[in-house]
Amino acid sequence: MNDQHQPPVLPWDSHNQTLVANVHPADWKNPTPAPRYNFVVIGGGTAGLVSAIGAAGLGAKVALVEKHFLGGDCLNVGCVPSKAIIRAARAAAAVRDAAGFGVNVPDGVTVDFGKAMERMRRLRADISPHDSAKRLTELGVDVFLGGGTFTGPDSVDVSGQTLRFSKAVIATGARAAAPPIPGLKDVPYLTNETLFSLTTLPKRFGVIGAGPIGCEMAQAFARLGAEVFLVRAETGILPREDRDASAIVEAAMLRAGVTFLDHGKQLQLAKDPNGVRLQVNVPGQGYDVLVDQLLVAVGRAPNVEGLGLEAVGVEFDNKVVKVNDRLQTTNSRIYACGDICSPYQFTHVADVMARIVIRNALFNGRAKASALIIPWATYTSPEIAHVGLYEKEAKEKGIAVDTFTQELSTVDRAILDGETEGFVRVHVRKGTDEIVGATVVAAHAGDMIGELTLAMKGKLGLKTIVGTIHPYPTQAEAIRKTGDLYNRTRLTPFVKNLMSRWLAWTR
Ligand SMILES: Cc1cc2nc3c(=O)[nH]c(=O)nc-3n(C[C@H](O)[C@H](O)[C@H](O)COP(=O)(O)OP(=O)(O)OC[C@H]3O[C@@H](n4cnc5c(N)ncnc54)[C@H](O)[C@@H]3O)c2cc1C
Repeated sequence: MNDQHQPPVLPWDSHNQTLVANVHPADWKNPTPAPRYNFVVIGGGTAGLVSAIGAAGLGAKVALVEKHFLGGDCLNVGCVPSKAIIRAARAAAAVRDAAGFGVNVPDGVTVDFGKAMERMRRLRADISPHDSAKRLTELGVDVFLGGGTFTGPDSVDVSGQTLRFSKAVIATGARAAAPPIPGLKDVPYLTNETLFSLTTLPKRFGVIGAGPIGCEMAQAFARLGAEVFLVRAETGILPREDRDASAIVEAAMLRAGVTFLDHGKQLQLAKDPNGVRLQVNVPGQGYDVLVDQLLVAVGRAPNVEGLGLEAVGVEFDNKVVKVNDRLQTTNSRIYACGDICSPYQFTHVADVMARIVIRNALFNGRAKASALIIPWATYTSPEIAHVGLYEKEAKEKGIAVDTFTQELSTVDRAILDGETEGFVRVHVRKGTDEIVGATVVAAHAGDMIGELTLAMKGKLGLKTIVGTIHPYPTQAEAIRKTGDLYNRTRLTPFVKNLMSRWLAWTR
């Protein structure tokens, strides 16, 4: 594999100067290494930061090694900039839809993409002190800026300095994979590492990939005014999600102006003086579309290059570094956490995995990754969020379920907000109220899934949810209403008959 993992290229304004001063200060001098560390952490994204700060807080001697920018993908080229852009896009959509609420917006309202991106850069800079070299140092972590390489069973080299460890953590994350699309290597294209450095809106924006990143960015750029073409493998989007859930988002993306281009497996790319051509030659369904910017968002590849993993017996493949359930690699002194080893590539998962690693590596803990109940969300409008099992997974595992789906169209707050597309779906173990999985499609599904995750974690069933008072009117009432649906199934003809008789007798 080539080392394609590059530091982001940034427009050099005051916000990015602040960002860089925090996450990769130009005048940074690596400290003199301690004779030995409890923990050497390679990678300063969420997984590495939480490992290092958590361990140092417990009294461990910790070194953190970061090649590019502290904060990793999430702060610099992932969650933070993408959600800032999505917020700006939502503002644009709200103005566009204002007439439906009786708010007359004068003609000629425009989006200033440059300003929206500047806002994103400002907010990213505002958040960056949290992940800064200065803060880490104040918290007792020795920060080394440079690439980390294992050089022996207990040593890591960074810029010619040797760090000796008792335990090490690989937290080097992942990057956008370059899929084997004919022509890709001959055309200019963006990934998440370069997308957030745009300062002008592409007029015609191509996106390859209908996963969360592709869908979030396609919808946001369409709302900001680009003509967006999203190439997907087949039909449908967000393949992990229930088909009816993703169909709601797909319809919303269509309304935002996204054009879906199918047959992505037959896609060829060609350079054009005015951009990139997306070409598919399928009889009757072919296309040849010119875009002036192209985002590739198909899969992720692990950042393993230059780590010297072979030398220390750490096995990996083209997707992940291999770990056991305790997040130990094939070298028992070296652990891994975050995107580098996880099938769930999310910031909150990187965070919780780092906490498992601290317990297991430093205190001989027995915490297991498989015990985690992991929610996730895709921040399109509406959002899709999920936790636990999908119905198809429950079936594969031989778990019989009852499913309760509450449409938002009968929830007052959703009606009043004009956000009736969506639902809350809860799967319970058949014949019980034990929640085994849930999907929410709603404007703020990412916030709503927390209640269902808490219920699963605390082993609180639908009976507890239905007995919990939810403020009126909220969209979260849809969650309580799934409990009403459950309760109705408890009302067997026999029970109903008994109740009728009692009521007749007490009349
Ligand atoms: C566009 C986009 C949007 C996203 N949105 C969300 C979201 O809304 N919610 C969510 O939960 N997740 C989101 N994610 C995923 C999230 O960003 C990742 O799951 C998270 O950043 C993983 O953290 P990590 O620490 O494992 O890896 P990273 O954040 O990738 O950090 C790894 C660090 O290791 C460094 N490194 C690599 N090799 C070396 C080396 N040899 N020596 C030293 N350092 C090295 C890298 O420079 C990097 O800083 C998004 C991702 C993208 C791309």
